[in-house]
Amino acid sequence: MRKDRVLPPYRIKVIEPISILSAEERKQRLQQAGYNLFHLQAKDVYVDLLTDSGTGGMSQNQWSAMMVGDESYAGSRSYARFREAVDDIFGFTYVLPTHQGRAAENVLFSAMIKPGDVIPNNMHFDTTRANILANGGEPVNLVIDEAFNPSLIHPFKGNMDADKLRAFIADVGTERIPMVMMTITNNSGGGQPVSLANLREISEIAHAHGLPFFIDACRFAENSFFIREREQGYADKSPAEIAKEMFSLADGMTMSAKKDGLVNIGGILAMNDLKTFELARERLILMEGFPTYGGLAGRDLEAIAVGLREVLEPSYLADRIGQARYLGEGLKSVGVPIIEPIGGHAVYMDARAMVPSIPQAEFPALAVANALYLEGGIRGVEIGSVMFAHESPDGHVVYPEMELVRLAIPRRMYMREHFDVVIDAAEAVAQAAPTLPGYRLIEGEGPLRHFVARFMPLHRT
Ligand SMILES: *Cc1c(COP(=O)(O)O)cnc(C)c1O
Repeated sequence: MRKDRVLPPYRIKVIEPISILSAEERKQRLQQAGYNLFHLQAKDVYVDLLTDSGTGGMSQNQWSAMMVGDESYAGSRSYARFREAVDDIFGFTYVLPTHQGRAAENVLFSAMIKPGDVIPNNMHFDTTRANILANGGEPVNLVIDEAFNPSLIHPFKGNMDADKLRAFIADVGTERIPMVMMTITNNSGGGQPVSLANLREISEIAHAHGLPFFIDACRFAENSFFIREREQGYADKSPAEIAKEMFSLADGMTMSAKKDGLVNIGGILAMNDLKTFELARERLILMEGFPTYGGLAGRDLEAIAVGLREVLEPSYLADRIGQARYLGEGLKSVGVPIIEPIGGHAVYMDARAMVPSIPQAEFPALAVANALYLEGGIRGVEIGSVMFAHESPDGHVVYPEMELVRLAIPRRMYMREHFDVVIDAAEAVAQAAPTLPGYRLIEGEGPLRHFVARFMPLHRT
């Protein structure tokens, strides 16, 4: 056998049927959806790469753990097992389960942010950004400049620029900064990892100013995999050991268990500070539920407890990252520009490079995402002007640096044949690029408009 072959550490036991509509039907469905793939019905999608959030396949051990779920309102056995896994892996003093990641964010931010505060991050994810705004704060991105050059190879393109952070703290003052955050891996910037050296440096800067340091830990296991692969001194450490080291630098974390918890629903909020915990616990009871279930069923807590351990298995991570690489390399081989290096959970097509003829005001990444659905029944997601363009205080529109179509890979779900369909369709879209229409927004506003917006294609002459 070839030495470099990645071996899936599982086989299929339960089948979910999927089918593909005709090209004519896809055209109709897209029109009915207001040219926004979020409005499609999932049954009308063949390969669904909209998100890797909560969409993966669970293992037989997770399903069997769910059968022993303890649904007691307070102090259930399932909470104890959840706590044990979370304590083993992350090592924070206080832990609150939430129903998903954004709930952990809202609970934390409503406890910690006051109007006028600013929160630096390497790059805020869209729900993080929206939750900060909703709590009266201002999200600020301080990722290294390399992150904005899609074709530049850098082992840790998710790193925060330490000098930018120092300058930012000097400029704003610590009074208005309730915490420093880091997102691992950097989802909005291409699923790019953050090095341990960078986490250490940012943690030191935050602590030198007396600021708490929080990690958005959604893809902590994937980040551990990249550190093991790329950072000097970590090749012989296990992903679990690397995770321990990462979290030892932080004062708390938010996490969507729908990512590296390997479950379909769930979230985690953890921290070391008692005062913050007491405030957060009060918010949690108000918004989510009693602190030993936090908006989840006991069986969900069981599935998370098992998933958090499975996600750190090296064979799982090799297969997981291997799938992203298979898709990314395949796209490159047919001339589709992507963000490099290929990240952990998704491949990001560079729509600005693909359709330079469509200006940002006409949503080039939306144009590519919609064309991919029309071509192959594939659903990706726009990460560009629809998601991030906004009006500045002086009234002009600020566009994001990049126009991306993210093809997120659900965990333990698709096979190489599915990725081959995506590669074929993307090749056809790239070839048709000069004829693709741009779009006009006809409905939807605010920082979460991408979920609800509707569009009209602009016909080219
Ligand atoms: C998914 C995600 C979130 C939000 O989690 P949900 O479970 O979708 O609410 C926050 N941060 C990052 C980096 C994410 O990928």
